[in-house]
Amino acid sequence: MKKFISILLAVVLSVSMIACSNDTPTSNETTIGSEQSNAAYKTGKYTSSAKGNNGDVKVEVEVDDAKIVSVKILEHSETPGISDSPIKQIPETIVANQTLAVDTVAGATVTSKAILAAVESCLVEAGADINALKNKVDNKEPVKVNDVEKTADVVIVGAGGAGLAAAVSATDKGASVIVIEKMGVAGGNTIVSGGIYNCPDPALQKPEGIEDSPEFYAKQTWEGGDKVGNKELVDVLCFNAYDGLEWLKSIGIKFSDKISQGAGSLYRRTHSSLDKAGTGYIKAYLDNLASKGDKAEIMYNTKGESLIVDNGAVVGVIATGANGEKVTLHANKNVIIATGGFSANVEMRQKYNTSGKWPELGADVLTTNTPGITGDGIKMANDAGADLVDMEQIQMLYLANPKTGAMTKYTPRCLAGTDKIIFVNTSGERFVREDGRRDEICGNLLKQDKGLMYIIESMDGDDAKKLDEMTLADGTPIKEAEANGDVFISDTLEELAGKIGCDPAKLKTTVEEFNKAVDAGKDKFGRELYSVKLITGPFIATPRMAAVHHTMGGIKINKECQALDKDGKVIKGLLAAGEVTGGIHGANRLGGNAIVDTVVFGKLAGEVAAR
Ligand code: ADP
Repeated sequence: MKKFISILLAVVLSVSMIACSNDTPTSNETTIGSEQSNAAYKTGKYTSSAKGNNGDVKVEVEVDDAKIVSVKILEHSETPGISDSPIKQIPETIVANQTLAVDTVAGATVTSKAILAAVESCLVEAGADINALKNKVDNKEPVKVNDVEKTADVVIVGAGGAGLAAAVSATDKGASVIVIEKMGVAGGNTIVSGGIYNCPDPALQKPEGIEDSPEFYAKQTWEGGDKVGNKELVDVLCFNAYDGLEWLKSIGIKFSDKISQGAGSLYRRTHSSLDKAGTGYIKAYLDNLASKGDKAEIMYNTKGESLIVDNGAVVGVIATGANGEKVTLHANKNVIIATGGFSANVEMRQKYNTSGKWPELGADVLTTNTPGITGDGIKMANDAGADLVDMEQIQMLYLANPKTGAMTKYTPRCLAGTDKIIFVNTSGERFVREDGRRDEICGNLLKQDKGLMYIIESMDGDDAKKLDEMTLADGTPIKEAEANGDVFISDTLEELAGKIGCDPAKLKTTVEEFNKAVDAGKDKFGRELYSVKLITGPFIATPRMAAVHHTMGGIKINKECQALDKDGKVIKGLLAAGEVTGGIHGANRLGGNAIVDTVVFGKLAGEVAAR
């Protein structure tokens, strides 16, 4: 009888192992032995997966009868940069503390939860007491959290594009820097952006017959923002953009050698980073800062709260640390605010939404932004006497995923392939030129049924990738994206129409009319940019809505990134760079100009601050 029970147990266990894992425990005998001796776990290696941001995250957990021996991430397609911290930290913490009571990493919550869920399901199979692991009470004395006080030449608030560019250039000039970042990961909106960068570049433009110059770029940027921006600042942006590109290349960022016209860029001068989304920029900055040793420190989970003002000059920052401790940072030279805009702060965007361009921007309106982009730096600077400018200038973008608002889950052509896509509404009809201004496209989109459109693309053009090799901008495999409803794919337009719920004949006619417009070089919407006809399947439809994307207003600065007060006087010790500033992009920021802003003004702020 005893033998029979053992066999039965072995069979049951084998079956349950197979359900969870590809890699069965080393031997069933060990497993049975553990079971009989009241062990905490059934010794073995277990694998399981859980859904992350871009697909499944597969983990392997090894346990012996008393403890969790190791946690390994076997496979994932999560976005590099954003997912690095949870992938490293969470397995380490689980093993070190023998617990499932592990905090998610702020800014990488979905990946964190996927790792924890997959580990939990392995441990269920290993017979662990999951409740005990999740509620593990630390019997040790609570760690006393001491307040922190530090000094550096330059203190930077915000580790997004502008803050990190400033840190690189300030340290290049010999200054020591401390960067504080309120999330658990660096990158802000920059890392989830399309990574596109505008600048005149004769070597790439001339062979394509494109005439350009910094003057023309500045004129288009200023006029594209309805001449609301400060032309002096626009000139700083546009005349230094090419040097900025060279600087980025010098620190290791790689760009495509194909020039394109990014979404809302209005001209063919857009460069695309070869890395996923904006990850290439952030990785290059972080690598560069890591090479600077103790000259550069980044403090994560540290939120800037206010500026220390002494005799009218800004001399430091008060922040709150990861465990609630007070962090006081003294700046020998300058403080740089680089906290981004306020698109993720519903209260602020409602307060300042007075331009008349948009309806209510309440909580039901999506944003493309990461959760940390809440206007903190604007408030901190304003409290210290800085003037604000163009606060009512808010940009909506038509590239938001209808489920999440994020713009990351798009095929590469949605952002930099403006010449090879069309937009159709839920009836399968075009309604706007696709190469126009962002505000015009969004204004028209908001009038369509459900405020919803589909970006339609085909496999035409010499840059068309094989469907199986295609990933979305953030690294999601296209098949995964299709399974999640982030894109729809069909061999024919008729089939595609069925999937997106419009009349097949209508969609076919729409595409035929567009293909005639490609021959004619014009259409009734005023589109100017044409390259390929949409002929070759499979066809892809990407659903998109308008979402709050960029806030053009912010801290008033001069040409050296110094913050100005209400009388136009420089506030000593205070600089600002990136989306947190106002006065550059006017009423409508051109696509591909945001990263230029973070690079040109971020780098400049670092240089000025290090003086
Ligand atoms: P930009 O494009 O101007 O560089 P980003 O959005 O890329 O702006 O980056 C801004 C960064 O600032 C984000 O990483 C965000 O989490 C961080 N941040 C915002 N508010 C604070 C704050 N109060 N303290 C520290 N970091 C902050």
